[in-house]
Amino acid sequence: MLVQLPNRWGLDLWLLKSNETGAHLGGNKYHKLRGYLESAKRQSMGTLITMAGAHSNHLRAFAALCHREQLRGHAIIRGDELSDATRHSAELRFALDQGVDLSFVSRAVYRQLREAVSIADRATLVPGAPWREAVFVPEGGLGADGLTGVKDWAREASGFDHVLIACATGTTCAGFLQAAHENQKICGVAVLKNAAAIESTIRLLTPEHEIRFELLNDYVFAGFASTTSELDTIASEYSHFWQITIDTNYMARVVMALRDRVANGSLKGRVLLVYTYNE
Ligand SMILES: *Cc1c(COP(=O)(O)O)cnc(C)c1O
Repeated sequence: MLVQLPNRWGLDLWLLKSNETGAHLGGNKYHKLRGYLESAKRQSMGTLITMAGAHSNHLRAFAALCHREQLRGHAIIRGDELSDATRHSAELRFALDQGVDLSFVSRAVYRQLREAVSIADRATLVPGAPWREAVFVPEGGLGADGLTGVKDWAREASGFDHVLIACATGTTCAGFLQAAHENQKICGVAVLKNAAAIESTIRLLTPEHEIRFELLNDYVFAGFASTTSELDTIASEYSHFWQITIDTNYMARVVMALRDRVANGSLKGRVLLVYTYNE
């Protein structure tokens, strides 16, 4: 859904929101998960397994989707100390409430799981999860099925010259890039100190795609979940002005990048902000 955004820069500026309105499924996470959901349906698999940080939006959206689609969900959580229920985050409590089974693993095992390429390797690392009956959703939805879902959403961006997107794993950006046409420029705004990981996500695509991509690294500040007084100001000002949540982790950084690009004259034509935030 495209919404025109009033702005003081005289810019032809729009916001792409998700048409999906289910609770916890409003932002980009649903689109990344959708491809895995379809893959599970195609293979008649009743279970999805994922791996996630205890505070991630990915976990929240995963739990909400499994519950809604009546799939069995299993999430492998980074940090074995978190198996203690008194230390559960709001996201862990939500996942349990939606019926998701949890396995807690050490950071070392979690790292190995990220690198594992086969079901057999994963089953060795986390023997308690139902690997054989499940579709595996990599952390953050990164992977071919994640791109498929995002690409569908990205078709709505086709009328724009510049598209700005907050980047964590880079999966959302990669999906938009894959759907982009020749004259479009996709700008990823990094929110983590992980430029190399984002670049490698983007390299899952073809070199022709890569030339339409630019990664902006000036908005990481002290890293994820850090903020600055300027980000706080942008967040509150634009939340009020546009009547949507502009959070400091993701969207305020995109707005700051937009403002700076307008100031240095590098944005021309129709500009789109992708609203990745899960309301
Ligand atoms: C997860 C998230 C992102 C990052 O998406 P990636 O596909 O991992 O790059 C961006 N914005 C918001 C609000 C998110 O929750």
